[in-house]
Parts: sequence; C-alpha cells; structure tokens
Amino acid sequence: MPQEQQCPICGRAVSAQARYPSYVCRNCLEEAPPVNRDGKRISYTNVDASGGIQSQIEGSADWLQGPDCEPICYVKGRRCRAEEARSGGVVIQVSYKLLGKDGPCESPTRGKLGGNGQARIYGRLDCWSAVNAVKAGVTYQKHRVFFKDEETAVASGYRPCGHCMRAEYKAWKAAKAVAGS
Ligand SMILES: [Zn+2]
Ligand SMILES: [Zn+2]
Repeated sequence: MPQEQQCPICGRAVSAQARYPSYVCRNCLEEAPPVNRDGKRISYTNVDASGGIQSQIEGSADWLQGPDCEPICYVKGRRCRAEEARSGGVVIQVSYKLLGKDGPCESPTRGKLGGNGQARIYGRLDCWSAVNAVKAGVTYQKHRVFFKDEETAVASGYRPCGHCMRAEYKAWKAAKAVAGS
C-alpha cells in the first residue's frame, strides 16, 4: 500500500487514506473554502459528538441537516461532496456522478466507462465516436453517463460499443443471436 496519495485538485502529496481516495487537501480548502452551486460559502460540521453531518450557508444562521444538508459543493470549480468522516469530523472529496444499478450515485473515483443514456451503449472514455459526439454539441452531452465498471454498465441494461469495444460487442451480438433464435 502506498503511504501517500495526491490531492485530486492541486496534486500535492497527502497521507494515504484508502477509504477516501479523492479527499481534498487542507491547503486547497484553506485557499478556496467550499461554495455551493450558487457560489455561496458552505461550511460543514458534525451534528453532535456522535457524528452526522450538517451544513451552513454563508449569511444564514441555520444549520441544515438530513435531506436539506446539500453535501455537493465546489472547491476551485471541482465538484465535491462532503461526508461525515469515519473517525469524526467531515471529509470533502472530489465526487463523480455515476450511473449505478439503482440510478445515479456519487463516487470518489472516476468512472471507467462512459455511455450514451439514450442509445444505452457503453464504451471506453476515449472512444473516438463518443469523443466526437461530445464535441459535436450539447445534445449528446445531455445523454452522457458514466459507469464505475463494465459490470454496472451491463447490469444497467447497456450494450458494448461497436467501435471501441469490438470483442465485447461481437460477444454481445453472438449472445443476442442465440437468444433470439
Ligand atoms: Zn489540494
Ligand atoms: Zn465506443
């Protein structure tokens, strides 16, 4: 196990925490305290000594808990998520929105695969066909989804891309032909 990992925002070496692979370093949080989607400063603390998480938006005296807490925040423009730390306190990690079996979910690690939510096709992140479609405009971007791995993509009812995942695509087609006959 490495003893160090990197802050996903500034790249600084920080102590390794397997449970928090994308936690944001103290320097970044001091330089750029988290803001919410409206650009207002948002602070987080535990609810009480037993833990939990609550947030407070700049200019408000209220601490928001439960569904009102708003854990998604932004540090230097990067989308992050605050959560109660196991050892007490609050940890802020860069967060990615992925598609899971039960719908969208947050993940501290980038998805391994991308997909087209409309055509229900999954493929590599660097697939030329997907990259071109993303460049072509907002229509495709709206349908772009990300998966943690292939298993999740298949479980979500997506099929492999014929451009960048030839072998998987052929296997899928063959299996489909068998199932259809
Ligand atoms: Zn940093
Ligand atoms: Zn592809």
